Amino acid sequence: MALTKKQAVALLIADDPRLIAGLLRQADAARKKFMGDAVHVRGVIEFSSYCRRNCLYCGLRCANRHLRRYRMSSGEIYAAARHAVALGIKTVVLQSGEDSRYGGKEFCLLLERIKKLGLAITLSMGELAYRRYNELKSAGADRYLLRFETSDPALYAHLRPGCRLKERLRCLGWLDKLGYQVGSGAMVGLPGQTAGSIADDVFLFKELNLDMVGIGPFIPHPHTPLAKAAGGSLELALKTVALTRIATKNTHIPATTAVGTIDSQGRQKALRCGANILMPNLTPAKYQKLYEIYPDKICIAADAVDATRRILASLGRSIADGYGHSLKRK
Ligand code: SAM
Ligand code: SF4
Repeated sequence: MALTKKQAVALLIADDPRLIAGLLRQADAARKKFMGDAVHVRGVIEFSSYCRRNCLYCGLRCANRHLRRYRMSSGEIYAAARHAVALGIKTVVLQSGEDSRYGGKEFCLLLERIKKLGLAITLSMGELAYRRYNELKSAGADRYLLRFETSDPALYAHLRPGCRLKERLRCLGWLDKLGYQVGSGAMVGLPGQTAGSIADDVFLFKELNLDMVGIGPFIPHPHTPLAKAAGGSLELALKTVALTRIATKNTHIPATTAVGTIDSQGRQKALRCGANILMPNLTPAKYQKLYEIYPDKICIAADAVDATRRILASLGRSIADGYGHSLKRK
């Protein structure tokens, strides 16, 4: 029987440990049934910390003058992609702030070169024109991650000055139309967010028939207007991951870095209640600290694959073979 909004809200606010354990167990069983035990590994390369946006929650916001910014050259990004290949990783996720220096001809040539390494390419560089998404797809990008952050339009407009949820969703529609495997997601624990709106997020994930969904707790950054906000809890993030697994069935769901940042066992716990993806950070060490979305961001860095294997071995799981493309038939 399909989950109702009333049930989802009740589970999100529940504090009965048996009820919560039951939800997480049900999600783990759904993950096993639809995705199996193998975990896909995606190597993240954070190639630019410049951003034209001013999201209230994010350390990369353009008004944050405390941040030392960096841009990686095409050569550096290519070297990081080769490192991924050497580690046996099959997907790279190229992520950045909204930086107009990237996305043009040189970037397309870079994608073509990376593609020749035999890698699947996921992009996560924000809102672009339809034409740009099209060019990047033609150059070899397979997937695109663009979280809608919250399905509450008023909260969205407040948290992302100058932006509208409608426009974000239009971008997701374009990406789908262009043949990308589309990922979205949300933060939980945002100031002003309700359990009802998180339940709406889950139903929107399902309605959009997403290939990937990333869920992380909001973590306050000291140099943002939300510095004093409470931040999202691990429990709320895990419940949302679990509900998302149950609702979306065979969507790829990562155990996010944010979950691992607020709790040292956070990713392990997420992998046991619905998640089936790990995303080690392959950004060169000298830049990693500078990509400060939120403070104390953890990374599985230099020994990426070994650390990933250790996490999975402790859970009786293993690294998946293959690219881990979408399981949704569209
Ligand atoms: N600029 C692109 C965008 O916004 O889609 C991609 C990079 S952005 C840093 C990636 C994600 O980081 C966002 O979608 C948001 O959910 C997450 N994020 C930003 N600030 C955060 C915070 N303070 N706590 C947790 N996650 C955060
Ligand atoms: Fe820029 Fe993305 Fe951070 Fe918003 S969330 S400020 S778009 S990097």
